[in-house]
Amino acid sequence: MNISIIGAGYVGLVTGACFAELGNKVICADNDVKKISGLKKGLIPIYEPGLEELILNNLKNKRLKFTSSIGEAVKASEVIFIAVGTPALENGEADLTGIENVARSIAQNMDGYRLVVEKSTVPVETCAWVKKTIATYIRKSYKFDVVSNPEFLREGCAINDFTRPDRIVVGVESAKARRIMTNLYQPLNRPVLITNIKSAELIKHASNAFLATKISFINALARICDRVGADVKEVAQGMGLDNRIGRYFLDAGLGYGGSCFPKDLEAFITIAGKLGYDFKILKAVRDTNEEQRKFVLQKIKDALWIIKDKTIAVLGLAFKPNTDDLRNSPSIDLINALIGEGSKVRVYDPKAMGKAKKILKDVIFCNDSYQAAKGADCLIVATEWNEFKELDFIKLKKMLKRPLIIDGRNIYDLKLLKELGFTYIGVGRGNG
Ligand code: NAD
Repeated sequence: MNISIIGAGYVGLVTGACFAELGNKVICADNDVKKISGLKKGLIPIYEPGLEELILNNLKNKRLKFTSSIGEAVKASEVIFIAVGTPALENGEADLTGIENVARSIAQNMDGYRLVVEKSTVPVETCAWVKKTIATYIRKSYKFDVVSNPEFLREGCAINDFTRPDRIVVGVESAKARRIMTNLYQPLNRPVLITNIKSAELIKHASNAFLATKISFINALARICDRVGADVKEVAQGMGLDNRIGRYFLDAGLGYGGSCFPKDLEAFITIAGKLGYDFKILKAVRDTNEEQRKFVLQKIKDALWIIKDKTIAVLGLAFKPNTDDLRNSPSIDLINALIGEGSKVRVYDPKAMGKAKKILKDVIFCNDSYQAAKGADCLIVATEWNEFKELDFIKLKKMLKRPLIIDGRNIYDLKLLKELGFTYIGVGRGNG
């Protein structure tokens, strides 16, 4: 099929590259001219495992193309995916300006039937607006369908998630749209759930909100564990072995971040409010998450007493491992709070240093974990990269001024670190 993807970010690039790999002809369009000219030369603007190879291969075999002209993309494709950003506005609402702009461009450039696939995460009823917008700006009475096809990929394992998803959700209202979407995803051989459009839109917000709820739940539980001397990892294991609960998303720590959970939760709370429902559970989830970052900062203060002028090493800047994405990263918030209180902060991240240099001021960027630890009064793990799990603790201890580890992601074996002579403080490990 001839497909275009509007919005060449994490979702758009992965979707485009994967559909090209499946044998489709794909054009990725973006209004960021600099990004597109880089992509044309094979410069990939984000770090995502396996993505560079996939893009370069498909550029070479001419199944994948990049353009900054949305018109060109619309004219060349029967199926058009919208994958532009939907950031949060000040009031928590999703900013749908990009979606509206793209809908208008599609309408103005259509020259026959088009299937418009809404993939960005949007509040329920957005597809109805996309449909109205296209109908308003269309030049002739060409037929078109709008479908909702929310994306569930996770940064860091996005290609695997795209090609082997637990489920593909497609909200449709015509048999033709259903047929095209089923054919498009058929090569993946994964479960496709066909629903009505509003259900599909809600499935995305509901899924993210539910996962965020699990994280805030375990973080709240961690507070209890600390007070009574229980270990939240053991509690999570015991809960997770129950199939009705499951172990995923029961990791206590600094809380969730990233470009999706915080904004999607806020957008869901806001749309629920507009629909006349006060989604109190989700407000508590958000508040618990915000408290969690402060809670870990307090642990640092409790351990060091005065943090002004203390040197603190922070391992991990990205909001989670295997990505260089810093959007809403708990680590960045923590670092800014430490700097605000006068600490000297030494940082290291395996992939996010380039992006961090653009947004972090007054920190010392280090080449590895040991260099970051050099002369530090305490070491904080803020992102659970695998390489932090495999540190040489003897070497690390020699680098630190004081053998104090604050494990903001609970990745270490508490007993082992104690045996090695560290003061170890986790989140909900019952030890401060
Ligand atoms: P992103 O910021 O990485 O990319 C968005 C791209 O859209 C940017 O390159 C931007 O230049 C482009 N864009 C914005 N407005 C445009 C316009 N009017 N015309 C053309 N291009 C335009 O965002 P992302 O992380 O890829 O997320 C895209 C959507 O997918 C969001 O709604 C997000 O919530 C959702 N989503 C993201 C993830 C994720 O893990 N990143 C997962 C699932 C769903």
